[in-house]
Amino acid sequence: MVQIKDYVALKKDELKKRILLLPKKPTLKIIQVNDDYASNSYIKGKIKDLNEIGANPILEKLSPFTSQAELLKIIDETNKDKNVNGFIVQLPLPKQIDENVVKCAIDPKKDLDGFNPLTKFKSATPKGILTYLKDQGYDFKGKNGLIIGRSNIVGKPMAKYLLDEDMTVTVAHSKTPLDNLKLFVQNADLIIVAVGKPEFLNKTFTFKKTAFVIDVGINRDKDNHLVGDCEKDLPVSYQSPVPGGVGLLTRLALLINLVEGCEKYGL
Ligand code: NDP
Repeated sequence: MVQIKDYVALKKDELKKRILLLPKKPTLKIIQVNDDYASNSYIKGKIKDLNEIGANPILEKLSPFTSQAELLKIIDETNKDKNVNGFIVQLPLPKQIDENVVKCAIDPKKDLDGFNPLTKFKSATPKGILTYLKDQGYDFKGKNGLIIGRSNIVGKPMAKYLLDEDMTVTVAHSKTPLDNLKLFVQNADLIIVAVGKPEFLNKTFTFKKTAFVIDVGINRDKDNHLVGDCEKDLPVSYQSPVPGGVGLLTRLALLINLVEGCEKYGL
């Protein structure tokens, strides 16, 4: 497997070339309605990525006191804005705003985070994982996929995408008894872990030697280091690193959605 950071660098070069073939530089707008530390840092990363591939980022930062009606008006204007090819509304949203209403208000053709139920795009984290595995020639067909975690942004869409690749998919969650989970892990060829607990998947489990483990988790350990959901060096064929793993693939997927959107829908 090519290391994720090298893979991402190669894909960014490819996207840069594809952008040069477009009639105009694509513009992605980020609407932010918070002043959250983590969001500021994610947005900084996204803007850097967009500049790197030759796209045009716009950040519209609104007050955390913005009302739902005001945000919906801005979304409506952005849906209609011919100069914006695609946009995202950075989560979390303040409590006066209903996330589901916002998600449904985004034009499915401009919904680069894949939030709208009618979206034309795959959700960024699962798409990033899927694209990486596909590009590495991973053969999904007929294999056992196990997803631990059933969130709307990772576990659920991931399950659909793996089913679409003809895997046999199991989704485990907090109500899955540990003994059952151990059996699922033991039989899994591909394990996607999105739980949010350091070392959740660890060496007390038995693995197939040929298994691939994709660690989605982003947590802080007691020394404030960034760690995933998996113990290091599991006895498997491949384990994605944290940091330098799924976070980079998620950022890449947004760029791919932007370029594909421009190519497919002439945005
Ligand atoms: P959520 O926090 O929304 O949900 C966690 C999931 O884990 C739930 O489905 C929960 O089950 C399940 N879970 C909790 N405890 C157990 C258990 N003991 N056994 C089995 N399942 C359990 O998940 P997210 O998907 O939003 O985030 C998961 C992790 O991934 C976090 O660390 C987050 O920071 C990270 N993340 C990283 C991204 C990246 O780009 N690298 C992107 C998105 C998330 P239940 O539904 O029953 O409560």
